[in-house]
Amino acid sequence: MTIEVLPARLANQIAAGEVVERPASVVKELVENSIDAGATRIQIDIERGGHKLIRIRDNGKGIVKDELMLALSRHATSKLKSLDDLECIASLGFRGEALASISSVSRLTLSSKPSTQETAWQAFAEGRDMAVQIQPTAHPDGTTIEVKDLFFNTPARRKFLRTEKTEFSHIDELVKRIALSRFDIAITLTHNQKVVRQYRPRAMEHGVQRVAQVGGKVFSQHASFIESGHEGLRLFGWVLPAGVTNSTQYTYVNGRMMRDKLILHAIRQAFDESIGHEELPGFVVYLELDPRQVDVNVHPAKHEVRFHQARLVHDFIVQAIKQVATAQTELSCDNDTV
Ligand code: ADP
Ligand code: MG
Repeated sequence: MTIEVLPARLANQIAAGEVVERPASVVKELVENSIDAGATRIQIDIERGGHKLIRIRDNGKGIVKDELMLALSRHATSKLKSLDDLECIASLGFRGEALASISSVSRLTLSSKPSTQETAWQAFAEGRDMAVQIQPTAHPDGTTIEVKDLFFNTPARRKFLRTEKTEFSHIDELVKRIALSRFDIAITLTHNQKVVRQYRPRAMEHGVQRVAQVGGKVFSQHASFIESGHEGLRLFGWVLPAGVTNSTQYTYVNGRMMRDKLILHAIRQAFDESIGHEELPGFVVYLELDPRQVDVNVHPAKHEVRFHQARLVHDFIVQAIKQVATAQTELSCDNDTV
């Protein structure tokens, strides 16, 4: 075989394998784009578990007409210019891959209107070589992205899609995680034209209301608020007492949702050391630190991070959680004697 450069679409489809695993991953990428665009309202409409339609509307800053095509091409991003920027990246995206990847495995329509532009424009990407057509459309300030027929042209991937119900439950779970990453953003989720979740905007200090909405009654009744700081590290959030297990186990690093092994390990160790209880209770924990101290470019979907001072971060989390775990045991001892 001779060596040849892959056609754009094929290259994007291959890259899509890393970012677009299922409908929920499309929702994640698109909603993160809306958040990066400064949206305060995000509407997520799903049809048939996302097999048929995923539509995200936001009231963010929009994309100017001349950049619509660029937004859909690979390695095109407005969020990063140099390697230095990557060291202290604050936006959720930066790889410039999501829209190119998603549009290579679906029928994607992008409509947008920045407030500075009088008319809205729409780009449609489908077919060979990612040719994009652009036409005027009606749209308020902000952006709407419609993704239809996910994996229609990659049957091998389509085969892996689960039932409508399962795929929607992944989306619902993801939207919960996002809702807890930004209390100030209003988020509505519909499935087959019915409103399934409605998260109203809350000030950070009233965040517990949203935590209760996601984590359920058990969370609002039993969780303790924790807050701790040490050498540029800050941890806050809500933790349930040991024994009250709840599947709400969410961790965030600088506003990014994570399933980071180091953080989970530290939380488990804290509970184990203070009360000899290895089963994790529910928790929603936010870690904040200097972005230079953490590498977010470890995983294409950014589920994991790498801390420069891993030991320090780990021990800090153990200490912070241990305080509340210990306080809770004292509390339950008191109760025993009453
Ligand atoms: P990345 O988020 O890594 O930059 P994407 O492929 O997700 O890459 O998006 C490409 C670019 O398109 C973004 O950098 C941004 O400029 C623009 N964009 C995407 N979605 C939106 C949106 N909802 N509102 C405004 N701009 C957007
Ligand atoms: Mg993005």
